[in-house]
Amino acid sequence: MIDEKNTNDKEVFDLVTSEYEYQVSTVNLIASENYVSENVLRALGSVFTNKYAEGLPGRRYYSGCKFVDELENLAIERLTKLFGAEAGNVQPYSGTQANMAVYFAVLERGDHVLSMSLNDGGHLSHGALVNFSGELCNFVHYGVDKKGFIDYDNVEYLAKKHKPRLIVCGASSYSRVINFEKFREIADKVGAYLLADIAHIAGIIAAGLHPSPVSLADFITGTTQKTLRGPRGGFILCSKNMAKAVDRSIFPGMQGGPHVNNIAAKAVCFREAMRPEFKKYICQVLKNATAMAEEASLLGFDVISGGTDNHLLVLDLSKLGISGDKFQDMLDEVDINVTKQAVPNDRLGWSCGTSGIRVGSAAVTTRGFKEEDCRKVINAIALLRDNFNENKEYVKEKIKLLISNFPDLFVS
Ligand SMILES: *Cc1c(COP(=O)(O)O)cnc(C)c1O
Repeated sequence: MIDEKNTNDKEVFDLVTSEYEYQVSTVNLIASENYVSENVLRALGSVFTNKYAEGLPGRRYYSGCKFVDELENLAIERLTKLFGAEAGNVQPYSGTQANMAVYFAVLERGDHVLSMSLNDGGHLSHGALVNFSGELCNFVHYGVDKKGFIDYDNVEYLAKKHKPRLIVCGASSYSRVINFEKFREIADKVGAYLLADIAHIAGIIAAGLHPSPVSLADFITGTTQKTLRGPRGGFILCSKNMAKAVDRSIFPGMQGGPHVNNIAAKAVCFREAMRPEFKKYICQVLKNATAMAEEASLLGFDVISGGTDNHLLVLDLSKLGISGDKFQDMLDEVDINVTKQAVPNDRLGWSCGTSGIRVGSAAVTTRGFKEEDCRKVINAIALLRDNFNENKEYVKEKIKLLISNFPDLFVS
C-alpha cells in the first residue's frame, strides 16, 4: 500500500491523514457508512485501476484483459454464491446505477412504477422528481401505516389501481423487516416485475439474518459500501434468463469501462462476508441497533415504528421543535455523525431541514462497539437534546473518552 508519509503530494496526503484521524476520533452513526478492511483498501488502491475493460469477461473491447477477466469472473462467482443467486453483475459504479440498469432493462418512458415514498423510507433513485428516475417514468408511491410499518394493503391497492410494470421494494430509512413474499404476491396479481433494492440490508441478508429476496424478486440491486462493508459500488442479481438484458443495460447501455479496482475490492468484500466472523459482526450490528432503539425510547425519543429489526432507526423530532438538519449540526459539534431524515407525514420536508434523524449501528459495530457503548451514545444525544448549551462540553469530553477505547479503524 501507499505509504502516506512517503509522498511528494503533501497537500492531498495530509488530507488523507487528517481524514483518517477524523474517522478514528468520531462516533459514526451514519447508517449508510462503514469501515472497510485493509484488504478491501488494498484492492481499491491496486493497479487494476489502470485497466480499461469495456464489455464482459471473454468479450472485451480492449486487449490485455486476461487477469481482469479472471478477476471479474471470481467476483461474480463469489457474489452469486454469497446470495445463492443464478446470475450477477458486479459492474455498477454505485447503487443508483444498479437501479438505473434495471429500469433501462424493463421499462419504457412513461411506464408506471410503484415504489416507497422518500419520506417514508425510499431512495432518490426510486422515482424522486429531482432524480433521473422520476423523469423517466410515472412513479406512484406507497408508504407506511400509522404504526410506521409498510402498509401492504395500500401497496396492493395502488398496484391494482395503477398496473405498474415494475414494483420496487427496499428502502434507505426503513427499520423493519421487508416482506418480500408479500411483494411477490402483489406483483404477481398485477403482472409486474419485482425489484428488491437491498442497498442498506445487503450485509444482513448475506449473513442470513434478514429474509432473502432471491428467487422472489426478478431483480435485486444493492450496494457494497453499507452493511456489506465493502468498497463504494453496486451489484445486480437476477435469474439466468434476465442476465443478458441486465448486462446489456449496464454496458453499452449506460456505463463506460468498469472500475476494475472496485470490482477487485468487491470480490474481497464478498469473500469476507462469507466468513463466520461476518455473521457474528452482523449479529452484533442488530443487537446494537436494538439497544439504541430501546435506550432512545426510554429517554423519550419518538422512534418510528417503535424500534428496529435491522441496523438503523429513525427518530422523529417533531415534538421537540427542532429540525433534523439542526440536530445533525448540533451532534456534529460533539463529534457524533448522524443523518437528517424526513419522517412519515413530515411537516418540514427536505427543503426545511426535515423532522428527524436516522441513526445506524453498522460503522460503530465495526469499531467494536457493544450494546453498552451504544446506550452511552444515545444518552449523550439525549443530554444534548435537553440542554445543548449547558451539556455540550461535558458530552464532548464523554464522547472523546468513549471513542478512545476503539483506536483502530480496521477489522482483520
Ligand atoms: C444507498 C442506496 C442506494 C444507492 O446509493 P449510491 O449512493 O448510489 O450507492 C440505492 N438504493 C437505496 C435504497 C439506498 O439506500
